[in-house]
Amino acid sequence: MRVPNPAASIEQRLLLLRLLRGGPRTRRELSDQSGYSVSLVRQLLSDLVERGWVLEHGTVAPDARGRPSQAWALAPDACLTIGLDVGGDTSRVMALDAAGTVRYRQLVPTPALDSGHALLGFLAGLVRHAESALGPPAQNVRRLGVSYSGFIDFQAGYVIAAPNIIAGDRLPLRDYLQEALGLPALVEDSSRVMTLAEMRYGAGQGCTDALCVNVGAGIGMGILAGGQLYRGGTGLAGEIGHIPMQPYGDRCRCGGQGCLETLASGRAIATRARHMLEQGMPSLLQRMTNGAPALVTTEMVAHAAQAGDDLALDLLNSAGMWLGMALATVLNLFAPQRVILTGGVMRGNDLLLSIVRESAERYTLPHAARPLPIVLTQLSDDVGALGAALLALDEEFDRGFAWRLAAESPAMDEG
Ligand SMILES: [Zn+2]
Repeated sequence: MRVPNPAASIEQRLLLLRLLRGGPRTRRELSDQSGYSVSLVRQLLSDLVERGWVLEHGTVAPDARGRPSQAWALAPDACLTIGLDVGGDTSRVMALDAAGTVRYRQLVPTPALDSGHALLGFLAGLVRHAESALGPPAQNVRRLGVSYSGFIDFQAGYVIAAPNIIAGDRLPLRDYLQEALGLPALVEDSSRVMTLAEMRYGAGQGCTDALCVNVGAGIGMGILAGGQLYRGGTGLAGEIGHIPMQPYGDRCRCGGQGCLETLASGRAIATRARHMLEQGMPSLLQRMTNGAPALVTTEMVAHAAQAGDDLALDLLNSAGMWLGMALATVLNLFAPQRVILTGGVMRGNDLLLSIVRESAERYTLPHAARPLPIVLTQLSDDVGALGAALLALDEEFDRGFAWRLAAESPAMDEG
């Protein structure tokens, strides 16, 4: 039976856990970084080890006095989270452990179901499958994070609208999943979740102020401001895809007209390509689609443009020009340290990146530092599931561990 140490408050233990998220540390390092005495660190560590949340992690190189020091690390199973990324075509599931290691990953097509209820049931099933595949460590799964392609009310965990997902809008996603799975859940917009993953593992590392622009079927943006995800007063911040670019432009799926999405999204590029091919424009794309213009995809346009096809190059030049103009707007507004371009249309597309950059250079204020800090993502298309699991893991380190400590030892919640 553990004897609680009254000198060790919940906050003090949490701080040590958070420091250990940065990697193994010695007592001396933990003392330096926390400001706690080495003897307090020793007590806190012994408590955390007893709970199974921290492990000995070998010794590090001898210190100045020639003595090797013991290092300590988070126990991977101290908590696990599951990330669920729901997209129009594909849904992905990933489990992360406390040390940030991927323990499970799966990808399945998102089925075209005839009701929101059926979709909810399908999503709960994906999480249950992940839990059973994890085996015994599944009992340490503490929280679920969901990345959803659509307009999300983060506070309520509610999907307001989701034009890319069949039967996917007006869903009480968080409440349903919490109830069905018995697991606390967070639901967030996919672009914001990707931003989180970029900040931890990708091109946003070291940034406190950055933008992550997600160009897929639609166009979304996550905003990192002062080290925090920015959601805005109404929770819908970041809708770069609906910046109006043309007063009498095409109708947008949001109900507006001439939005950026109607000019530069994957859907816009494919639609324009199809129209051109239907008019019989000569292009490599005619051969790539076997003369069936409806089959054209943005990937085909990217490949044809790489091969020097004029029609495909025109399409990318136009999309990239509009995207660069919109980026100039947000660069002027936010003055970020970095803009990370991600999503199926941008990933690996250096040609489109160079077009976007050139356009953004032309339209961004001359005082902004050049070259503009616009980069392509280096993360795989697991980024949504990874970010969703991270969102849940952050919540565990922010609140979950504290609740567990408070529940176990209420008398110690005063420090
Ligand atoms: Zn729109």
